[in-house]
Amino acid sequence: MNEYDSAKMLELLGEKSNFQTTENESEADLLVLNTCSIREKAQERVFHQVGRWKALKENNPNLKIAVGGCVASQEGEAISKRAPAVDIVFGPQTLHKLPDLYEESSQDGKRKLDITFPKIEKFDHFPEPKAEGPSAFVSVMEGCNKYCSFCVVPHTRGHEVSRPFDDILQEVTSLANQGVREINFLGQNVNNFKGEKDGEKSSLAELIRDAANIDNIDRLRFTTSHPFEFKDDLVDLYLDVPELVSHVHLPVQSGSDRILKLMRRRYTRKSYLDLVNRIRANRPDISFSSDFIVGFPGETEEDFQDTLDVIDSVKFDESFSFIYSPRPNTPAAKMEDDVSLDEKKERLNILQNKLNNYSSQIARKMVGTIEKCLVTDISKRNPGEFQARTENNRVVNFSSAKNFIGSFVDLEIVEAKPNSLRGKFTGGTIN
Ligand code: SAH
Repeated sequence: MNEYDSAKMLELLGEKSNFQTTENESEADLLVLNTCSIREKAQERVFHQVGRWKALKENNPNLKIAVGGCVASQEGEAISKRAPAVDIVFGPQTLHKLPDLYEESSQDGKRKLDITFPKIEKFDHFPEPKAEGPSAFVSVMEGCNKYCSFCVVPHTRGHEVSRPFDDILQEVTSLANQGVREINFLGQNVNNFKGEKDGEKSSLAELIRDAANIDNIDRLRFTTSHPFEFKDDLVDLYLDVPELVSHVHLPVQSGSDRILKLMRRRYTRKSYLDLVNRIRANRPDISFSSDFIVGFPGETEEDFQDTLDVIDSVKFDESFSFIYSPRPNTPAAKMEDDVSLDEKKERLNILQNKLNNYSSQIARKMVGTIEKCLVTDISKRNPGEFQARTENNRVVNFSSAKNFIGSFVDLEIVEAKPNSLRGKFTGGTIN
């Protein structure tokens, strides 16, 4: 989501303020930091970065520093109190105002702050989307009403608001016309999308069906879905929409019913596993990835074991896991926590080892198979090679005399490396 927001900031600043990007910080007249506050560590990095940038103002008195995103939304004025070098503070819902805030601050030399939540207005201010390669993010809804007890998102991004259905399809069409082949629909609670279509509420399943019919669009993903909102119409799509990839990111957080209840997740271990099984029944080769929080306040050894059991049941693909981090204004932050940090680190280590075992097993099983891959880029490590993505979003590096960026190719997986796969071009291009 932040990557999408940052891209929009760049487009807006380019279009409205004639800014260009630079690789060299000391050349910049405006430095923008888009921030995340999901865990405390991400938040602390903001102040370190601003601290480093402050010195650049000595050589360039016109330099403005702006801080946007969720830390800005959460901290507001406290940002420039702690870091007076910051000139502009804006939130996730006011990023479209950045060009104006910059202009005003440059003219009167004063600090500017706007962290309001003006509904979904920002999307009406975005310029025509610009494709950056064959894969694109498209934000479909913002905010979250779930109020999971550990999570800061409803407080920083605000309540759920869905974009109108046709606006999204228009954005997808425009990207498809620029060569985009894969769309990743974004939302903090993406499967509760309810965008208005012909005066009625629609659903993510309807949006995916229509997007799949747009010429050039061959792959659809969505992030991040909440298990509670994963309704039957979405499960049904896996039967007859081949554009919808055989990979679902479905954060479980914990496998203990007691902890899930304290987290206010609204599902149980059983209902989560039932959902996984129903999706698998429709798409047997599908892979699941997930998010995990270890060391939630009061998590016992038994609760932790329940989480490990869920991993053994589902055998997740590459996943994300974190030690619980108390966030301001969240109920969990007030819960008693008697598990030591050392114990939490130990649990994270055990959990990550288990996750890694399954994800490398999946990678090893892929060796010898032929995968339909979208060629996205030149290889990061070796500019003489190309990088492609499998359906389960694995990176595959391969060499080819011809540049296939933007096309689907058949690659034989010949080696599983720790963070990527090696592929061999079979000569088969899909288009
Ligand atoms: N909307 C998604 C969450 C997106 S945030 C959902 O409801 O599942 C990405 C991940 O960060 C979460 O899935 C969770 O695993 C982790 N996370 C969120 N708040 C956290 C906290 N306070 N401490 C540690 N991890 C957290």
